This record gives sequence, structure tokens and C-alpha cells, in this order.
Amino acid sequence: MFNIDYLIVGSGLTGAVIARMLHDAGREVLVLDRRSHWGGNVHDTTHESGISVHTYGPHYFRTSSARIWDFARRFGEFYKYEAALLADLLDERAAWPIGASYIRRVIGTDWHPEFSGTPLNFEEAALAIMPRKVYETFVKEYNEKQWGVPADTLAASLCGRFEVRHDDEPRLKPACPYQGLPLHGYAAWMRGMLQGIPLLLNYDYLAHRRRWQPRKCLVFTGPIDEFFSFELGRLAYRGQRRSHSYLPDVKHFAQPTGQVNNPLHAGGNHIRTLEWKHMMRPDLAAKIQGTVLTTETPYSPSNPTDFEYPFPDDANAQLYQRYRLRAESLERTLICGRLGEYRYYDMDQAIGRAITLAERLLEQLP
Ligand SMILES: Cc1cc2nc3c(=O)[nH]c(=O)nc-3n(C[C@H](O)[C@H](O)[C@H](O)COP(=O)(O)OP(=O)(O)OC[C@H]3O[C@@H](n4cnc5c(N)ncnc54)[C@H](O)[C@@H]3O)c2cc1C
Repeated sequence: MFNIDYLIVGSGLTGAVIARMLHDAGREVLVLDRRSHWGGNVHDTTHESGISVHTYGPHYFRTSSARIWDFARRFGEFYKYEAALLADLLDERAAWPIGASYIRRVIGTDWHPEFSGTPLNFEEAALAIMPRKVYETFVKEYNEKQWGVPADTLAASLCGRFEVRHDDEPRLKPACPYQGLPLHGYAAWMRGMLQGIPLLLNYDYLAHRRRWQPRKCLVFTGPIDEFFSFELGRLAYRGQRRSHSYLPDVKHFAQPTGQVNNPLHAGGNHIRTLEWKHMMRPDLAAKIQGTVLTTETPYSPSNPTDFEYPFPDDANAQLYQRYRLRAESLERTLICGRLGEYRYYDMDQAIGRAITLAERLLEQLP
């Protein structure tokens, strides 16, 4: 039996922030991760051309909170990067989110939402904020590829992430005051966050859970259904298969922006193409010959290490609540993070949530 005050399972943002705060407050902490690298999905590698590639899809850091921005910059410098996206409509590339000039040109100025009232599903929620033509071109098939089901079976709440613009602002999040990417990459940034904290990699806690009895608290940031051996059934997830190609002859860029979405079934099964060089500091990118492109194709993974997005429908939300009830009944155990709470968190949200949870632990378990 191994004893430690706080055992933290998972070195992703949630586990790393909680570990950092407990460690800084003088608590005894050990972090375990079953992957061969730290940082969870916040990770990158450098391609032999010198181009930095985010391992688990593009990660754009942004926050409206000065506190979270200050916290993030404790572990490494950031350079300014504000994502701007395009959608490939096969006969043209249009801005995403949809700009006002596209709507004026294709729909006109006098349009009214087709749906009013309380939307019961994703399609109704989308038609309450955008013209049908826009929904069918940019949103419907993209989400059918992303989730693998008809759009009218998805939850209305998923639509909260969409907007229709009244101008042609190209930046994805123009209102967000703090945006950027870590100067030395995500892996180095996460290493900085875990600096000085004992960390064991390639170690699956669930395979050895009987050996551990943390004196104060177990913080588990893996999938909640896996923690309970899937006893109530499996929660559904989507993941992405990533296919990388290096184009040595491209002098500058192969596409106009770092991310080009592929919203139509006719464009193929992938949902987006990333060109990582766009996300590098411009002076460094300018020195590199060639470019790396990555396409992402959604699928339903069965291996928990590949779980990325919780599935947005009522059946899974209800199943999660049944697991949550079980989790709340456990003593000295906190199940949290995007997999533990079965909830999509942006990085800043994951940090904010983890700070709150760590403060609570410090207060409750002095
Ligand atoms: C495709 C994609 C794109 C994204 N893009 C953005 C973006 O642009 N901007 C943004 O702000 N956010 C983005 N995010 C969100 C960001 O990745 C999350 O906020 C962040 O990863 C949450 O961290 P976490 O620690 O909760 O989870 P994770 O990063 O998943 O960390 C959990 C860790 O626990 C470990 N673990 C699980 N089970 C066990 C076990 N039994 N034993 C040992 N270890 C275990 C895992 O190996 C993993 O390392 C994106 C997410 C995805 C999936």
C-alpha cells in the first residue's frame, strides 16, 4: 500500500493546476499519468522541419480573466495569436463565424429566424439564430460529421457556441482581451506548471488502484464512467483521427489561415485542415521551408485514452448524472476535469474550475 496526502490522477490542465496549488501551499502531492507524456491534451511536438504541431488538435489559448491570464503566464511567456478561421464551401472559402457580408450577399438584408419559441433540439436552436441556407451550408453537415448523428437529434444547448456576426470581423474571439500561444510550446508550458512536483508517467491508476490509499484526497481527472468500471453503462464520446502530411515544396503557406473547416459532406469526411505554421511566431515561421497540414476526421472511440468530446444529448447527460451521484457519495475522492465532469472545458475554463476546486480542498482539508 502506497500512502501520500494527495494523489492526483492525470497531469492535464485540471490535475496540473490542482497539483500546483496544493504543492505551493505546502501539501504533499503525487501526480500519475498513464500517458507517456505530461499535460493531457495540452501538448505539442516539433516536426523535423521545425514546425510545432499540437498533438490533440489546435489549442488556441484565450481568456477574459486577468487572474487566469496571470496564472497561465507564471509558467511561460506567451506570444500574441488570435485565431481566424475559414470554411471551405467547395466553390469559395468564407469566414467562420459567418460574416455580415456573406449573409447580405447570399440571403439579403431582410431575413427573419425560421424558428421561434423554445428550441427542443440543435436544429431548432440553430434556425432560431441563422437563416436556413446558412445553417445548411455551414452548420448542419459539419455537426453531423462531428457527432455522427442527424443534427435534429443533438441537444439545443450545443448551439450556444455559434454566432452570426453583424460585421466582418475575421478573428474568432475578438472580444477576448488575453489571447496567445506559449512561446516555447504547450509541452514546455505544462512542464513549467508541474515543476518540482513528483510525477509518474506510463502508470494507469485504475490498473493498480488497490495499492493506493491517499490520506487526504484522491483527485481523479480521467473518465468518470471508467472510474466506476462502466457499471451503469458507457458514456459516449467523439474523438478525431489525425492525418499529417508534410509538403516540402511550399515556401510560405498552403492555405490562407491556420484552420480551414470542411463543413459539407461533399468535401469529404474530415471536418477541418490545420496548417500549423500559421500558429507559429511569424519571424520563426518565415525561416521555415515547407509546411505541415493535418486533417481531423471524427469517429467514436472505444479506448478511453482517445475520448475527446462528451456527446451532447439528453441520454448521456442523464447517465452522467447517475455517475455523478455515485461520485458525490465517495469519501476523500474528487472526480473532476473534462472527463471526470463529462463536460467540454476550454483551457481557461479548466484552469478556473481547477483553481476553485483546489481552493476548496485547501479550505476543507487544512
Ligand atoms: C480537439 C480538441 C481541441 C481543443 N481546442 C481547444 C482550444 O482551442 N482552446 C481551448 O481553450 N481549449 C481547447 N480544448 C480543451 C482542452 O484540451 C481542455 O480544456 C483540457 O485538455 C482539459 O484538461 P483536463 O486535465 O481536464 O483533461 P485532459 O487533458 O484529458 O487530462 C486528463 C489526463 O488524465 C490522464 N488519465 C486518465 N485516466 C487515467 C488513469 N486511469 N490513470 C492515469 N492517468 C489517467 C490522461 O492520460 C490525461 O493526461 C480542446 C480540446 C480538444 C479535445
